[in-house]
Amino acid sequence: MPSTPSWAVGRGIMDVETARGWRPLERDEAIAALEADGPALDGLRARAASLRDAGKGRTVTYSKKAFFPVTNLCRDRCAYCTFRRDEGEDGAWTMTPDEISDWSERAQRLGCREALLCLGDRPEDVSPAYRAWLTEQGHRDTIDYVARASRLSLERGLLPHSNPGVMSAEDMALLRPVNVSLGMMLETTSERLRGKGHAHYYAPDKDPTVRLEVLENAGKLKIPFTTGLLIGIGENFEERVDTVLAIGDVHRRYGHIQEVIVQNFRAKPEIPMATSEEPDELDLARTVAMTRLVLGPAMNVQVPPNLSPDAIAYLLDSGINDFGGISPLTPDYVNPEAPWPHLGALARACEQAGYQLRERLALYPEFIDRPEFLDPALRERVEQEWATIRSMEDTPEATPQETNP
Ligand code: SF4
Repeated sequence: MPSTPSWAVGRGIMDVETARGWRPLERDEAIAALEADGPALDGLRARAASLRDAGKGRTVTYSKKAFFPVTNLCRDRCAYCTFRRDEGEDGAWTMTPDEISDWSERAQRLGCREALLCLGDRPEDVSPAYRAWLTEQGHRDTIDYVARASRLSLERGLLPHSNPGVMSAEDMALLRPVNVSLGMMLETTSERLRGKGHAHYYAPDKDPTVRLEVLENAGKLKIPFTTGLLIGIGENFEERVDTVLAIGDVHRRYGHIQEVIVQNFRAKPEIPMATSEEPDELDLARTVAMTRLVLGPAMNVQVPPNLSPDAIAYLLDSGINDFGGISPLTPDYVNPEAPWPHLGALARACEQAGYQLRERLALYPEFIDRPEFLDPALRERVEQEWATIRSMEDTPEATPQETNP
């Protein structure tokens, strides 16, 4: 079993750096951080970058993934969403088991290690033909089908990470043996955004109480979990900070949050929020820095590089240490207008900014040697894949070259 690299030593938000004097930002300090400008913003970003350096060094990670839009049917209607479709609508699509298998094989041949299974929330509640199809396929609900899709991907050489929206404890227990990690964006803890005229008015699954319960249950089940916040959807700074504090709170109790994504809203012509303002780079950088300073040096803080292609160096210098999944095969179905960066170009941009781009798995390295966080059936596969990545370290193959894998 290869040893944990130095950039992945952190295991919790309270265990590594307290000795070095780090204390999390208080709520009022975090809110003030979101208003920083000029030299105060430079100072904030420098503090966040230095805290990141203490926990992660100058290594920034990514996962080679393929994005599987298992179904784009969804019972919610978030005002910023371009992914969802109604049954019968143009572009409505559910991947068949054969498609999952074929795509997995192609992705594996292209060097992907992660299958990101992404889909709408409980579509069977509003889509009768889809519900009938699930029954024909022998599945009681969508989560049951996601478990099968995960198994198919796993059998074809990928490590699944499913993101199927709100999950009950039973759902997560079903998915755990066939997923190396699970995910669900908390997005926001704002109840206000569920009111009329706001982003989550038509989205029953965006109830923050329900979503926090998912994070809580994932912790109880010892599932390495990906979550994060979505900024620019109408939340105010207090609500944004409260979202990060809530993630920190659940992680402090269970130690299972493997990464926190800071995702910026992108306007698209076809959505109800088409004319809403997008967060600019400064807003995103302030939020990244605040997140780092609240959650500490050991947390993995991620920004999707395809949503801020011109701000890579600026965001690196604001405290991120991860870019998430990057696919050589499939587009970002949630933001189809934003292509993934070319891996070689991203590696070069990192190098020019003084960082080193390195591959990771869909399970972060700090969780690999913790048996309680991984189903025994997955251990050998995970260790093999991780050993392959580790064996490439300090060789030219470790740094992505000009061609994607
Ligand atoms: S963001 Fe997710 S939950 Fe909301 S409408 Fe889109 S697919 Fe459904």
